[in-house]
Amino acid sequence: MVDKTRRKPLIAGNWKMNGSADMARELVDALLGHLPIGSVEIMVIPPFPYLAQIRSRIAGNQLLLGAQNVSMHAGGAFTGEVSAGMLADVGVAGVLVGHSERRELCGEDDAQVAAKFEAVRRAGLKPVLCIGETLQQRDAGMAESRVGEQLDAVLERCGIEAFAGAAIAYEPVWAIGTGRVASASQAQQIHSFVRTRLANHDATIAGLVRILYGGSMKPENASSLLACPDIDGGLIGGASLNAGHFLEIASAAARA
Ligand code: PEP
Repeated sequence: MVDKTRRKPLIAGNWKMNGSADMARELVDALLGHLPIGSVEIMVIPPFPYLAQIRSRIAGNQLLLGAQNVSMHAGGAFTGEVSAGMLADVGVAGVLVGHSERRELCGEDDAQVAAKFEAVRRAGLKPVLCIGETLQQRDAGMAESRVGEQLDAVLERCGIEAFAGAAIAYEPVWAIGTGRVASASQAQQIHSFVRTRLANHDATIAGLVRILYGGSMKPENASSLLACPDIDGGLIGGASLNAGHFLEIASAAARA
């Protein structure tokens, strides 16, 4: 397994459906005033309407721009959808695919998530593949098998090569927005399982792919999670809406 120090930490802030033009300006300016933070890559993932506005503020800076969702289609009669090419056009670098809220609330299944992953790759952007088990699945001892299924759907459609440059976010559904966080050992166990599953296909790619933890990550718990050998950063929801908290998590990643 490749040494963790070869993977730059990535701290990504998923604003979900929160914010306003004013909030976007204030939050991004507050972050820009503190960058860089070691070698940590920092990505903000606002709602679609604020992407272009934020892009013009961060031009030439080290902040990366992400999107929360994408269409699996390249274009055409899909009212209300946004293609990966359009996201590339407005300066997006990375795209979440398969966030649990989209799986649960919008009925996205593993096959659709894999198609979105492929669309993002085709546009030359970085997919951030979100995977994770529900509480019911964890209690039934199925955490690894569910995460394995979600990963395999993308491996089967896109191949292991598609993971070069991609990131994976392990987000136990029971920890998202609940204030309940996975323990460092629970998270490390699944991260290691994910890396091993990728290594069965290609050990080099597996050693370099960044696996982020997501699920109520906060300044208070970030250091212990980020110290784990297979945790390479975080996908942060609630705490990313507060610049100070988000920066504290990024600083914990720099120290890890
Ligand atoms: C998320 O939205 O991906 C997330 C992890 O949210 P929170 O940090 O609020 O649990």
